[in-house]
Amino acid sequence: MFFYHVLFPLAISKGFVYHSERELDLGTRVLVDFKGVERVGVVWSLADSVDYETKPILEVFDNRPILDQEFLESLKFFSFYYMTHEGLFLKSALPKKVFEIKETIDFSPLKPHFVLSQEHAFDLTDEQERAIKSIKLDEFKVHLLFGVTGSGKTEVYLRIIEELLKLGKKSVVLVPEIALTPQYIKVFSDRFSKEAISIIHSRLTKKEKYENWLKFIRGETSILIGTRSAIFVSFENVGLVVVDEENDESYKQDNQPLYNAKDIAIYRAKKKEIPVILSSATPSLESLHKAVTGKFNLIRLTKRVGSVELPEIRFVKLEEGKFLSNETVYAINQTLDRHETVAVLINRRGYARYLVCEKCGYVFRCPNCSVSLVYHKESASLKCHWCDSVFDIPKTCPRCGSFDLADRGVGSQKIEEELKKIFPNAKIQRFDRDVTSKKGEFERIINDLHNGKIDILVGTQMLSKGHDVSKIGLVVITDFESLFSIPDFRAFEKGVSLIIQTAGRSGRKTRGSVIIQTLTPSTHLSEFIKNHDYYGFFDEEIKTREMFNYPPFCRLIRVVSSSVKAEKSLKLIEDVYRVVKDRFTVVGPSRCPVFKIRNKFRHHLIIKTNAVLKAIDFLNREIGRRDGIYFDVDPISFF
Ligand code: ADP
Ligand code: ZN
Ligand code: ZN
Repeated sequence: MFFYHVLFPLAISKGFVYHSERELDLGTRVLVDFKGVERVGVVWSLADSVDYETKPILEVFDNRPILDQEFLESLKFFSFYYMTHEGLFLKSALPKKVFEIKETIDFSPLKPHFVLSQEHAFDLTDEQERAIKSIKLDEFKVHLLFGVTGSGKTEVYLRIIEELLKLGKKSVVLVPEIALTPQYIKVFSDRFSKEAISIIHSRLTKKEKYENWLKFIRGETSILIGTRSAIFVSFENVGLVVVDEENDESYKQDNQPLYNAKDIAIYRAKKKEIPVILSSATPSLESLHKAVTGKFNLIRLTKRVGSVELPEIRFVKLEEGKFLSNETVYAINQTLDRHETVAVLINRRGYARYLVCEKCGYVFRCPNCSVSLVYHKESASLKCHWCDSVFDIPKTCPRCGSFDLADRGVGSQKIEEELKKIFPNAKIQRFDRDVTSKKGEFERIINDLHNGKIDILVGTQMLSKGHDVSKIGLVVITDFESLFSIPDFRAFEKGVSLIIQTAGRSGRKTRGSVIIQTLTPSTHLSEFIKNHDYYGFFDEEIKTREMFNYPPFCRLIRVVSSSVKAEKSLKLIEDVYRVVKDRFTVVGPSRCPVFKIRNKFRHHLIIKTNAVLKAIDFLNREIGRRDGIYFDVDPISFF
């Protein structure tokens, strides 16, 4: 008799003990009775024989384990590292459908479908040649491909994927959610044929995800392009992982398990001894630091392909109370006259930041969260961007009864309205989460943009990630200061990279320009930005990080407590503080910047450490899983 822990995709660890007459491979999909219901689970680990009566494994599925050894061990490690339930990683790692299918899935390998064109449309630049030569196919190494927008980074990894295809190897390409456009996929399908590619992202149905996943697993397709969850795929016969726009925050999952797909890519590639390419025009300071200090291989592409120069970047002063300066309006006019597209970046969606009573100063706030409600004129409502509650707009102030309600602050809807007034004949399209949440709208807007059907695109961060839109002649950044006003030691890094990425959207065919509206035109950042000098910015910013001991000079673990009672939340975090205070450098405890979310009060503290694995081990042992406490290892957000 053999005993095994069988795990389900739930918030549990280890799983439950079942027995089997015959020996089973770990990682195999099985059917068992769990609390009277037949459930599909995965054989997670060997169990010691137990002194209670166990139930039998009812059925063993598939012609091989769904998780191979590397994958299974990696998942166990990630659960340890991110201090969360193993079952949650199991859930993230496999398509939902595999826990519903109660019959054998055929994993036997199929022949790949692809045609490799013999001819390339162009020769590589010297920099590209050198980049490709420095990437060895059969060894683990992290390569940081740091090149200005339009320098041909994509081409570098396309050629490597091609080499691997010839060797019968597969590739995994991770992209940020909003960069996965039909245009991006077309680049790959033009090169390797559509049938060679599987795509995984959150806008697919459960069935589509499963089918695309299965095709890749069986080797029918050879390239997997996907957003963060695609990193959980069998790495069997995979020869390369690419993380495109490696600094993008969408690689970090913002609910449990709080993993970072980039770090998972590196961990798994190391086990498989294959190369990783991290690509960006604005790499994260952590990655760039590792590259500069020799831990990663630094590959720089310094020139744009062809002769188009990087756009000219100008700072213009924005007069208090205005949304667009005269200079901006003039430049937009000129761009429209040249039949080029204008992209206007506004960091915030909605119409106004908040609604206020002019008589008594009352601000409309979310009853569930400690934030003000955002005024959405289009839907005539007040919305909470934290808990998604929606409220009608009251006619009077609930405190003093006054009718004098005014909106304050700027959102994308207000900028759109302003632009419509100034440019009544222009085709203006807003591009933010409110607009793109309608199915198909995201793709339609990107397509319209490519086909020249949009004169002015007004959008949030989403703008910064379109792929190779050559028609944008002018980029306007409406509010420089707002890009830096987040409670985060990475605020400058995030702001500067957003600007440089957005600027990179302009002038792909002819030289474009960028206008940055600001209240304070000469900050220490403006020279770096004007010169597209991300490296210079890095050089300066890294000194501050060192001085204040922030990553990459240490690692962070954020511990967050929450409770419907504020005192309870405070007590929870104080209990944690007592355990950690003598062992680590700790910032806090304090209230979280957003103190209440969905009716739960929140406190946090941040642990700084240079021995992160030891720290995690300690926390797992001394604190473990407690109600009302969660850990965020390598956090990227501090709200
Ligand atoms: P990046 O990813 O660095 O922004 P891309 O790889 O998308 O840049 O390249 C930008 C454009 O230049 C693409 O249209 C691509 O096909 C083209 N391109 C890339 N490399 C070359 C080259 N060596 N010669 C000519 N065109 C190139
Ligand atoms: Zn009032
Ligand atoms: Zn709310």
